Amino acid sequence: MSNSTNEKIIAIDGPAGSGKSTIAKALAKKLNLDYLDTGAMYRAVSFISIQQNIDVLDEKKVLAIAKEMDFNFEDGICVVNGFDATRDIRGSEVTRVVSVVAAMPTVRQEMVDRQRLWVKEKGGGVVEGRDIGSVVFPKAKVKVYLTASEEVRAERRIEQEETLDASRVADSIRKRDEADKGRLNSPLVRSEGAIEIDTSLMGVEETIEEILGLFKWK
Ligand code: C5P
Repeated sequence: MSNSTNEKIIAIDGPAGSGKSTIAKALAKKLNLDYLDTGAMYRAVSFISIQQNIDVLDEKKVLAIAKEMDFNFEDGICVVNGFDATRDIRGSEVTRVVSVVAAMPTVRQEMVDRQRLWVKEKGGGVVEGRDIGSVVFPKAKVKVYLTASEEVRAERRIEQEETLDASRVADSIRKRDEADKGRLNSPLVRSEGAIEIDTSLMGVEETIEEILGLFKWK
């Protein structure tokens, strides 16, 4: 296992709209750590595959895209193959296929290798995703599993996406949850030792205080 317990790693997992990105970003700022959104990596692979007209069911071709991809995530800006793709990777077409791409074992392995390397180079960080506490950094010092009610999660996405089509958003979240929880490879689970926090009725500051109260760096 590449992550030693000396690295300051905070693993944050949870379903779509549970507040992972907001909390992870704010927490990283507060602790002066770097922040990695691993969902952005799977989204970036999906985005390039769509852009290059690759069949997203063809694992070999998608893996080739993943291996060649130059991915850089800094201060919330996602640069893919030299292009600022921060907005594009959040597009509805990417959101529709990303769970298919993320279920591919070889693509996951490539992403996990990159995530471990990123943490090694940074000496730690706040890393958010679906399998961070269970597979990528099972020995992370702090493991958090964020949840929120389906209604609240849909409301958050509606705000983010600036859409009025609430039923489409709720449906998309439900489908993605099912795919992410039901896949064979690294499904979304609350990992052993992860503290579950329901953010439905909690603000950002309150959630961060709760997480900070969970640990002391050794
Ligand atoms: O976090 P976000 O909603 O952007 O993630 C997009 C998708 O990427 C998820 O629905 C999931 O299929 C995949 N993902 C994953 N493992 C991670 C992070 C994201 O499978 N660690």
